[in-house]
Amino acid sequence: MPVAAPSPSRKRAAPAGAGAQAASTSPGERLGLRSDWDFALHLPLHYVDETRITPISQLREGRIAVVQARVVQAELMAARRRVLRVTVEDGDARLELRFFHFYPNWARQYAPGKELRIRGEPRRGLFGFEMVHPVCRVAAPGEALPQSLTPIYPAGAGISQAWLRKAVAAALRRLDAREWLPPELLERLRLPSIAQALQLLHAPPPELPLEPLEQRSHPAWRRVKFDELLAQQLAQQMARSRRAEQRAWPMPERGGGLVQRLLQALPFALTADQAACVGEIALDLQREQPMHRLLQGDVGCGKTVVAALAAAQAIDNGFQCALMAPTDILAAQHLQRLAGWLQPLGVGVAWLSGAQRKREREAELARAASGEAALVIGTHAVIQDKVQFARLGLALVDEQHRFGVAQRLSLRAKGAGEQRQPHLLMMTATPIPRTLAMAVFGDLDISTIAHSPPGRQPVRTRVFSDQRREAVQQRVRELVLEGRQVYWVCPLIEPSEPGEGGSEGGEPGQAAARAGGGARGGQPELRAALEAHAELQALLGEQAGCVGLLHGRMPSAQKAQVMEDFAAGRLRLLVATTVIEVGVDVPSASLMVIEHAERFGLSQLHQLRGRVGRGSQAAQCLLLFSEPLSQTARARLQAMHETSDGFVLAQKDLELRGPGELLGQRQSGLQGLRHADLREDEDLLELAREAAASLLREHPLAAREHLRRWLGGGMDWLAA
Ligand code: ADP
Ligand code: MG
Repeated sequence: MPVAAPSPSRKRAAPAGAGAQAASTSPGERLGLRSDWDFALHLPLHYVDETRITPISQLREGRIAVVQARVVQAELMAARRRVLRVTVEDGDARLELRFFHFYPNWARQYAPGKELRIRGEPRRGLFGFEMVHPVCRVAAPGEALPQSLTPIYPAGAGISQAWLRKAVAAALRRLDAREWLPPELLERLRLPSIAQALQLLHAPPPELPLEPLEQRSHPAWRRVKFDELLAQQLAQQMARSRRAEQRAWPMPERGGGLVQRLLQALPFALTADQAACVGEIALDLQREQPMHRLLQGDVGCGKTVVAALAAAQAIDNGFQCALMAPTDILAAQHLQRLAGWLQPLGVGVAWLSGAQRKREREAELARAASGEAALVIGTHAVIQDKVQFARLGLALVDEQHRFGVAQRLSLRAKGAGEQRQPHLLMMTATPIPRTLAMAVFGDLDISTIAHSPPGRQPVRTRVFSDQRREAVQQRVRELVLEGRQVYWVCPLIEPSEPGEGGSEGGEPGQAAARAGGGARGGQPELRAALEAHAELQALLGEQAGCVGLLHGRMPSAQKAQVMEDFAAGRLRLLVATTVIEVGVDVPSASLMVIEHAERFGLSQLHQLRGRVGRGSQAAQCLLLFSEPLSQTARARLQAMHETSDGFVLAQKDLELRGPGELLGQRQSGLQGLRHADLREDEDLLELAREAAASLLREHPLAAREHLRRWLGGGMDWLAA
């Protein structure tokens, strides 16, 4: 039995009310652990060796050790704060233990003469070695040492290691760890059985080198990761075959129809990439299975027109098409663009936005419900309960990563009448590296626009310390006076997140990117934008009227007005918070300044920069940063300077941040990966994919059992 102690400090320090919460949920539940498998798969972070007792005389500074010794003195001292000091002795060496948080009865419990088993980190103190807050308890007479290394589990939520160890050990005893994977497979991949792997990970023999365990490269770890990826791949492949059983309305292409007329009306010819994507989508739409496709392509590559052509094909077949975009600005832009293309061809368009007046909204709802509007465009408002379609055949979701799975599904459910599903096309400008795409969207077809339309100017990106802010402002002034159009982007300001902190990875901007809007438009952010706006207005003197302001707190109508003024050139300098992050299209803008660029994530910076360089003018992006600059922030700015290729940046982002953050927490699927790390385990993912296919073919029972085991842990892969 490992050394363990109650943890009075935590119990005492718990804020009022926490106790009530603790009473209503079990400790396991607070960690998200319910089934035996959940506990069995709650794997140690690291281990301590308690299989040996170190004599006090052989302690080494800083090296955690287990000591067994007799108490010679225990005293309560009341200095600035109360301290319990316990002196113990083995042979002739002494060690001093100090506790700042303790129960009053400890002084009695650790009375002279008691034999204690103690684990802690020795430090040199005034009187030889001391341990502050060691883990410590009275040793039972003749108590044996543990046979295996002691696991230290991810805990938190006031849950003690001792409780977890007991719970995990009990779960492991009850566990049905039958091997479901065929022996040939395990042999070929050189993986141990799952029972062996779990046994080893929870209770490694003392002689085992710790590094491969703690680095998670040991075959036992690989087995667990493989199983996890296998479960995910199985879920996806099963979802795919279920989808193949669903029906959608086939929408054949009609010669001389709406698609042709739209193509002729466009002011440009499609690029080869666009045409290829249009072709893939057109084929999907003709089939009786619902399309489930992601259209990905860098910012500004021209995805909208591809979506418009898909809409035209659906509408030509008598169906309605819904387009959902994550922000008012973006949705409004789609409205403008698509209505501009399709209305002249006789297509009725409806507009739904949360900011709409009730009467207007009801009129639009009626047009969607009657089918009078063949194209319905809007924000989240499109998926509200009240919205009904006469005959929804195609759902388009722009910037799909901004929506949760549930939201995408509810758009799809709007058309589910008559046992038919609408086709679904999602769009993203966050290019996803192949590994990730496979892991997250294994069940998705992907069309890619790899090259932007010709004639685009590359954006020159330069990085400045904000000590040069004034010089940059002067430059902006000159350019604005010359008639150029400029974005001035104000920083995300993130309220500090409690708990995690201090580590390199915890960059504020990324948290905001993940929150996807929660922190957006907060007060400090607004203040920064207002300040910058005032400064730049002052700088422009008589021309102050051409400086506009755009932030998240403004009413939509006002936002739309500002965007319109900027697009029309009435405003030349637009000070904005990140509300302009996605989708804004003003080709004449040719300079972007981003303040506190170190606070943004890489993909956000790339998205922002994509707002310039859309026209024929050479464009520039100036990134201002302030010290101190963390290593990852520096690497991000460097990457921005070096490349404007979204795929390269996405790969870089994956290296710098890890996949969870790249896709945002709301992205389904990835948060489900508890053990595998897509940066390190790409090879396993590939193997799991193959194994999933052959398992489903040849051992369907094993596939089902495997999946059942893994689905307990709150995974929602199946929903995606
Ligand atoms: P995104 O892929 O970021 O949504 P958009 O669809 O907004 O990009 O397109 C960006 C700009 O490129 C728009 O102004 C659009 O009209 C223009 N565009 C799209 N396709 C072409 C093309 N084939 N040739 C020229 N310009 C195009
Ligand atoms: Mg777009």
